[in-house]
Amino acid sequence: MRYYLWLFRRCSAAILAVALIYAMPCGSVADAAESPLPASAKTIPAMADDEREIGPLSLDVDATDTQHGIIKAQETIAVPSTGELVLMYPEWETASHAPTVPLASLTGLVMEADGQRIEWHRDPLDVYAVHVTVPAGAQRLVLRLQYLADRGTMQADMLSVPWQRLLLYPAGEPVSSVPVTASLRVPAGMTVVTSLDRTGIERDITRFATVPLDNLVDAPAYAARLVQRIDLDKQAGHSIRLDLLAHDAGDLAITADALAKIRSMIVQTGRVFGPPPFRHYDAIVTLDDALSSGGTEHLEEGENNLPAAYFTNPASQLNNLDLIAHEYVHAWNGRFRQPADLWAPTYNVPVGGSLLWVYEGQTEFWGRVLAARSRLRSRQETLDKLALDAATVDNRPGRAWKSLADSTNDAVYMAGHHVAWRDWQRREDYYPEGVLLWLDVDARLRELSGGRRGIDDFAARFFHAAKTGTQVSTYTFQDVCDALDVVAHEDWPAFLRRHLDTHDTAEALAGLSRAGWRLVYTTVPTPSFREAEAETGGLDLSYSVGLVVEDDGRIDSVAWDSPAFRAGLTVGMRIRRVSGQPYSRETASAAVDATPHAELTLDVGTAAKPKPLLIDYHGGLRYPRLEPIPGKSDRLTPLLDPK
Ligand SMILES: [Zn+2]
Repeated sequence: MRYYLWLFRRCSAAILAVALIYAMPCGSVADAAESPLPASAKTIPAMADDEREIGPLSLDVDATDTQHGIIKAQETIAVPSTGELVLMYPEWETASHAPTVPLASLTGLVMEADGQRIEWHRDPLDVYAVHVTVPAGAQRLVLRLQYLADRGTMQADMLSVPWQRLLLYPAGEPVSSVPVTASLRVPAGMTVVTSLDRTGIERDITRFATVPLDNLVDAPAYAARLVQRIDLDKQAGHSIRLDLLAHDAGDLAITADALAKIRSMIVQTGRVFGPPPFRHYDAIVTLDDALSSGGTEHLEEGENNLPAAYFTNPASQLNNLDLIAHEYVHAWNGRFRQPADLWAPTYNVPVGGSLLWVYEGQTEFWGRVLAARSRLRSRQETLDKLALDAATVDNRPGRAWKSLADSTNDAVYMAGHHVAWRDWQRREDYYPEGVLLWLDVDARLRELSGGRRGIDDFAARFFHAAKTGTQVSTYTFQDVCDALDVVAHEDWPAFLRRHLDTHDTAEALAGLSRAGWRLVYTTVPTPSFREAEAETGGLDLSYSVGLVVEDDGRIDSVAWDSPAFRAGLTVGMRIRRVSGQPYSRETASAAVDATPHAELTLDVGTAAKPKPLLIDYHGGLRYPRLEPIPGKSDRLTPLLDPK
């Protein structure tokens, strides 16, 4: 067992280097103990200034109350001395790159010192901080708390346990220095899935090996009644497993072909990035329609929330086929190698996302590439998916005022907020625009090297993990440029800044033409477009009149400054009639299809008082596709070929 160092606050020596800085003068420890709040007379230590050895935290989590969606936790902290202690509830979450832990969901917090209840006080200037005065002679603090989970986290037959929302930790200590010994109780009959090492199972309680707090938080536990575990790769030193969690046994029916493609993705990923930075890896897949599709990255596991029909109806999953690859790539790009400004010593230190176009953008790019190389997507499906990326980039009028570089701040202030004008406000565009950016980098490397080198050469160098279980390695913008320059010489800072700072759509799409392809719009949607449209729950006319309309005629989104926008349409209006016909998907599509030679009129508003509108649009239906540029070198095909 490893012991760790932490501190009781010593005001005179407080090192306020990296965290929340309070300008108020400090009182002495005695003053602080005697005086009531406000805590403005107190400080929250940033990093340790006085070190004492104590044993690890213990955290016992009870996730059996799925009925109410309440997770209970009891935490024990050995305390070596009396005095004021500051405990932090995590605020920032690694994968969201944002302060997304909902403090309001932390309830029932009660503390005891050696069996006697003691009061705690929330810091009014940093409400994620809790001050407590440890009485003389006390040996340990016991915290009891509840986390009120959201829908989807706790279901009768499937649940997940986000450790960071179930504990407080001593302020002033890097979370990598705080050992935690955790246990988890789940409803009888559930199987626990996590990359954490287990030390024992007693009835419904699973006990885990002591790990640093950051490792615990990086290995959330899942549990379900129906779990299927499949070995993907059992090489010595880094076994890789697929863990499927489902509500219905039928959803676990993965075909041999699907499994072979996932195994191929693992092989292809290894050929790009080299030695894995993990000891072992669990690709956790929940097959669950209650959760929206999406994933969360970790070093030794990936959380992949996918629809229940993901394996049983793969033809309906065209836009989800690279999610597992995306999260797997993050083990290298995101968890092992981290942007310097995105790394922080604790979960209560703000981080910056200036390199998210690498962290997320290049991971999204590799998801597209690896899905193609492993045949998770056919060549045409890959081209169609890239066409969706390109069309998103092509239809971002917000670029006129907001650069891609500025969009890297989006997670911090847009997380959890509705964005009504997505194309004008822009939101985390470093995903699709990152795909195009890295496509341009690859095409430029091929151009410069006469086709001998490409982005694989960059990745093999930049993400090389010297040994399994390696430490985090941070990087800067200049490090990215330097690694590219080794592959082929170019003014990479200028090249990348053009993408990051441009207000010009042609610049953002430059990689497509450099790769020998172009974006076109045709009257027939691709299957990938139709599936993306189905996820919106309506009719997607974004690239023609500029509307997404729900099946009952209600307007879901309006493209900024589009023909629909200029006609006065806005979100929430209801379309009653289209060119004289009652609204339906079919009548709306037919009316837009006819616009090259017929006027498009709408009746909007209430059924009793519809308001007629004329849409000044004559372009017909428009759906994105890619096509090769005649006479140009095709640099995309060699990128997508298996290695
Ligand atoms: Zn990601």
